[in-house]
Amino acid sequence: MREIPHFIGGNQVTGTSGLFSDIYNPNTGEVQARVQLATEAEVADAVASAQAAFPAWSATNPQRRARVLFNFKRLLEDHIDELAELLSLEHGKVVADSKGDVQRGIDVVEFACGIPHLQKGEYTEGAGPGIDVYSMRQPLGVVAGITPFNFPAMIPCWMFSVAIACGNTFILKPSEKDPSVPLRLVELLHEAGAPEGVLNLINGDKISVDALLTHPAVRALSFVGSSDIAQYVYATGTAHGKRVQAMGGAKNHGIIMPDCNMEQAVKDIVGAAYGSAGERCMALPVAVTVGQKTGDEFVERMLDAARALKIGTSTDADAHYGPVVSAAHKAKVENYIQMGVDEGAELKLDGRGHTLQGHENGYFIGPSLFDHVKPGMRSYEEEIFGPVLQVIRAETLEEAVRLPSNHQYGNGTAIFTSNGRVAREFAAQVNVGMVGINVPIPVPVSYHTFGGWKRSAFGDTNQHGPEGVKFWTKIKTITQRWPSPAEGGGDIGDQAFIIPTMG
Ligand code: NAD
Repeated sequence: MREIPHFIGGNQVTGTSGLFSDIYNPNTGEVQARVQLATEAEVADAVASAQAAFPAWSATNPQRRARVLFNFKRLLEDHIDELAELLSLEHGKVVADSKGDVQRGIDVVEFACGIPHLQKGEYTEGAGPGIDVYSMRQPLGVVAGITPFNFPAMIPCWMFSVAIACGNTFILKPSEKDPSVPLRLVELLHEAGAPEGVLNLINGDKISVDALLTHPAVRALSFVGSSDIAQYVYATGTAHGKRVQAMGGAKNHGIIMPDCNMEQAVKDIVGAAYGSAGERCMALPVAVTVGQKTGDEFVERMLDAARALKIGTSTDADAHYGPVVSAAHKAKVENYIQMGVDEGAELKLDGRGHTLQGHENGYFIGPSLFDHVKPGMRSYEEEIFGPVLQVIRAETLEEAVRLPSNHQYGNGTAIFTSNGRVAREFAAQVNVGMVGINVPIPVPVSYHTFGGWKRSAFGDTNQHGPEGVKFWTKIKTITQRWPSPAEGGGDIGDQAFIIPTMG
């Protein structure tokens, strides 16, 4: 059986814990590999390797660090097919979607290639008599990233490409459900010229996460995953003196206005609700229709669109989406569907019990659609993370906007309308971090920044873009004066006892 090791100090390292987690093929339900789970001591080895690499890497000029990332970008492009196939076989998303996952990662690497410009400080000449003030952004030291199963290429790249571009050294702890692509990313970065110890990878579970959260040498930690764990990571990491950003779950709402282009909105939402089997934090699992007529038309058209979807294996080039990641996740999604029925929502399309001939043990779920979902239902208040669309009927725009604004999650939201004034007002008022206007999945481009609000993110600095550079660096501000010999060395005047002003 294939075993997935750690990667420490420039080499694959076989774990010694004797603990493993099985990696399934979601298309068949078979175990295809197993991943080693690290002990606290193995995490400490990775930290020691990153510590040893830090002095030289942080002293490497930013242009040279960027060159490693330029090489890495080219290698990712050369290997995109291999990475996408590997990703699909462990995650279950279709290959074209996996390519998008890798491409989104490449986009952030491309952003990080601009680090010589991005990390520049500021300078004020003559802030006082003969006094200049300047600032510099210095790397933090050893930093870490903990990533979820659903974007095993993009999210590691969000974190480590910006962090190491800034001069930090890094430990990646990917999801134990699909760790092969993260390991390939680390190998490719070394092929691109990263010195050993700059990027290390530890496979593991809570034991490794806790070891990173409490290790005194880890200065900052970025986490993406479910909200309860994000909150735990934020609380524990900050209590141990670390800078932490922890992104959590989501329940994104799309508002369907009566004046929208309904055909286009349905096309957009069918992909945003069911694509990747709904396993995206920027999926659109709630549609809020405004007005009875809009709601009726939307539900009717959406049912047709959902029924036309092809669910296939992740390697089927014609499939719209593949299986969910695990048997446990399939059971969880199906429980939420039953919960919705028990809570009184109207199940118009039931994706449970979906089987694929020849793949009877795969983790497939057909598309489900609920109408007349109401706030307060647990199946609405919680994240399902599966191919389930919930429709809520609202009478007015104000009522519709209150729904995403009052929800516990605040990752993304979208409005579908042809009225610019309404869209503008919605964007300004809604209590959510990322907004789409006739864009169903408003994941910002790499040179802007990604992050939700409320229980979708703990900590106040987002991923990538200039915010990412801020997160992975600390600012130092220098005030300098070079008095001439004639000016210096006299008696201590009264002025020395007064807080200096530049007046
Ligand atoms: P998860 O929370 O189960 O796991 C995330 C990471 O935490 C993994 O590396 C895992 O090994 C680790 N982990 C698991 N249990 C832990 C524990 N008890 N203590 C410490 N660490 C633990 O999440 P997942 O199922 O892999 O990913 C799906 C979730 O991630 C969804 O909730 C989704 O919305 C969210 N997500 C959020 C964003 C975002 O940017 N907001 C992006 C992608 C995914």
